[in-house]
Amino acid sequence: MKQALRWVMTAKDQPLVAMTCEGLSPGPDEVLVEIAGCGVCHTDLGYYYDGVKTKHALPLALGHEISGHVIEAGANAARWVGRAVVVPAVIPCGQCDVCRRGKGTICPQQKMPGNDIQGGFATHIVVPAHGLCEVNEARLAAVGLDLADLSVIADAVTTPYQAVVQAGVMAGDLVVVNGVGGVGGYAAQIARAFGGTVVAIDVSDDKLAAVAGQGVALTLNARQKTTRDIKSAIQSFAKTSGLRQTEWIIFECSGTRAGQETAFGLLNHGATLCVVGFTMDKAEIRLSNLMAFHARAIGNWGCLPELYPQALELVLDGRVKVAPFVEKHPLSDINKVFEAVHAGSLRRRAILVPNSQGARS
Ligand SMILES: [Zn+2]
Ligand SMILES: [Zn+2]
Repeated sequence: MKQALRWVMTAKDQPLVAMTCEGLSPGPDEVLVEIAGCGVCHTDLGYYYDGVKTKHALPLALGHEISGHVIEAGANAARWVGRAVVVPAVIPCGQCDVCRRGKGTICPQQKMPGNDIQGGFATHIVVPAHGLCEVNEARLAAVGLDLADLSVIADAVTTPYQAVVQAGVMAGDLVVVNGVGGVGGYAAQIARAFGGTVVAIDVSDDKLAAVAGQGVALTLNARQKTTRDIKSAIQSFAKTSGLRQTEWIIFECSGTRAGQETAFGLLNHGATLCVVGFTMDKAEIRLSNLMAFHARAIGNWGCLPELYPQALELVLDGRVKVAPFVEKHPLSDINKVFEAVHAGSLRRRAILVPNSQGARS
């Protein structure tokens, strides 16, 4: 193979630097992926700007939303060579007690690229073959996407996908998505694909306008509104739309204290609150409301690799749109892109594309 290049973090806040690495070669159960694209997630920024510790020591390439082509494989993974794949953001071991019971997202041996192992802001990566999601490139071209666009399936699409599956969204449900940025925009589209009627809440009119074109029935800007105002607006909407005033399904995707408090405040009888976004901040809530409303709150870490093909199918059949929500940048612009994402100046999710893209080794 050609020389692989990684853009590594050496210390918090220090510019990411390009490092060449020799001799990348897959073990018996691993594959070597030539990366087509890697999405920039807020989790990456948390490591870089906020001092959240990675499990693997620095220097480390961040990045866990990876798509690419398998160009080499170990003896037990030979069937993957030549295939286009999405690499799961959380790769369970597949063998331990929790994995055998279908709970791979809590596998203690799970590997997350850009945290437990070298990540996707690189030209190549070695990952376990277990859990890879194969992509049919002919269908991809037919829907007007390229393989780099699909990097966001790993995390931005699959994480809310699993949350929607766990919540059991179905036709007739009123679904509220709080925060319709990189993850919430997909939560809204997926919930709609499952038959829900979706209300989107955000503080950005741009983000609300972007999802309004994707089947969201009602958008609400939370700025200068109390939770009580928002709840009564949704109640009126439910009334005029013939939807229930109970059992709302609420996805908290903002990952902010204010957003979490709003989402909790929208609970009604039999409601389900899905905590998808992350923040270190503490929210002030009356936990007993869960009891009084006979409601439930569920968390969600990543997504089981077994669900990736179903999530990919929603993208390939056009029910979940990716193109309006992503923008591609050369990997070599990584420092500029990180700054822009951190400053909130990008409207879409950034995907970093290695410069060598297209030049197959
Ligand atoms: Zn992420
Ligand atoms: Zn396991």
